[in-house]
Amino acid sequence: MNAEELLQRQHTYFKSGATKSVEFRIHQLVTLKKLLKEHEQEFMEAVYADFKKPELETYATELGILHDEISYTIKKLRKWAKPQRVSGSLINFPSSNYIVKEPYGSVLIIAPWNYPVQLALLPLVGAIAAGNTAVIKPSEITPNTSSALSEVLGKWFKEEFVAVVEGGVAVNQDLLDQEFDYIFFTGSTRVGKIVMEAAAKNLTPVTLELGGKSPCIVDETTDLNTAAKRIVWGKFLNAGQTCVAPDYLLVQESVKPKMLQLLEEHIQKFYGKDPEKSPDYPRIVNKDHFDRLKGYLKDGEIFYGGEADKEECFIEPTVMTDISSDAKVMEEEIFGPILPVLGFNEISEAIEIINVKPKPLAFYIFTNDSNTEELVLEACSFGGGAVNDVVAHLGNHNLPFGGVGKSGMGAYHGKYSFDTFSHTKSIMKKPIWLDIPFRYAPYKGKLKWIKKLLK
Ligand code: NAD
Repeated sequence: MNAEELLQRQHTYFKSGATKSVEFRIHQLVTLKKLLKEHEQEFMEAVYADFKKPELETYATELGILHDEISYTIKKLRKWAKPQRVSGSLINFPSSNYIVKEPYGSVLIIAPWNYPVQLALLPLVGAIAAGNTAVIKPSEITPNTSSALSEVLGKWFKEEFVAVVEGGVAVNQDLLDQEFDYIFFTGSTRVGKIVMEAAAKNLTPVTLELGGKSPCIVDETTDLNTAAKRIVWGKFLNAGQTCVAPDYLLVQESVKPKMLQLLEEHIQKFYGKDPEKSPDYPRIVNKDHFDRLKGYLKDGEIFYGGEADKEECFIEPTVMTDISSDAKVMEEEIFGPILPVLGFNEISEAIEIINVKPKPLAFYIFTNDSNTEELVLEACSFGGGAVNDVVAHLGNHNLPFGGVGKSGMGAYHGKYSFDTFSHTKSIMKKPIWLDIPFRYAPYKGKLKWIKKLLK
């Protein structure tokens, strides 16, 4: 079936009203939870086949997050979906006023490869919860996961409700040529612009979950050992192929040598002296990304790591120092296991380095000084972030997750997903028995009363 026919079928199904009742939506969310449980091993194996991601990481950062989100959404959905009463205004007295959350219709979800199950299905939870139908386009770069998604979801959902369309750029372009009611895109800033341009032709609203260079500041007041441990975890998880991974470190000069030593110690504790043999360390997703990342190794001194094996798509957890400010590794999003470490003396220098770059998706600071914390959080704009941790903020469904500026627009997770995939419809109801005459012509003598009412 081509994209046009598929969307036509989804539109017809949506217009039938089948997806609108809360019972239907909850039933579909329960189905999604069931299929994830039943095909858990299949998904684990597919992700492993794509880039040797360890099962624990696949569970913790993909399937587990999905289970948590689905359970939370099922628990809260009836409350979220209820019309919300709001106060009336004097000018409209008497009236009752309320807000209805209404599904958009048929939504397109375009996913990247780096968390290939989570990033395809987490938006789907919101789309279903809000009462939409959905077409999911997973990434062609992780073909095993893409085909597992297509096969499993194809078994459990009717395609007029939820369909998975596999393919690359051409397939995506074909989908983007159709008139969806909403587009939810996760991927690079470059492709985000293409998606927004295509959406603009039909005035289709979009959420863009993009990337960028997420900084991490470490000052001299923090507990360096815990900071190093958390940073090594967040940076080398998924072999650094995480949109919210700390992209580069800014460490206060007075503690930089100690910090570098602790980073080395924790890398060795996590992955041993030969990480290529570690069962806990994934591979780079393909040879193009391997070449791109290997190129960065020339941009400075290798303090630790630097080993690379193209056949295996392996790049060792690497820490770099002495990087020139115009180096590519400090210009582009790294999206791999390479951590540049820069120094600063005054916190204002760190803020300056961050603020000359586009607004990042994530931002981290390790400090024990509340003045410094307050200063940087105020001075820097970013999608979301953490104080004294990295990456973990996205595991809280009470925090909206999304970027700002070049790192994206819109947000999701928990209630924010439901809101993202719902149109907010405002309704005012007036009684017919009372009709105050101020607004009607002739206006003579009425202006002073209108001024009093609207002052
Ligand atoms: P990508 O932008 O290359 O691809 C994303 C999707 O767009 C894929 O499904 C792909 O098939 C499609 N696509 C690629 N080129 C296209 C084109 N020219 N026209 C139309 N569609 C096209 O991104 P990626 O390499 O899969 O993922 C890495 C990027 O995603 C990084 O920048 C990362 O930071 C970002 N990311 C962001 C988040 C987030 O939640 N904000 C999460 C994960 C990844």
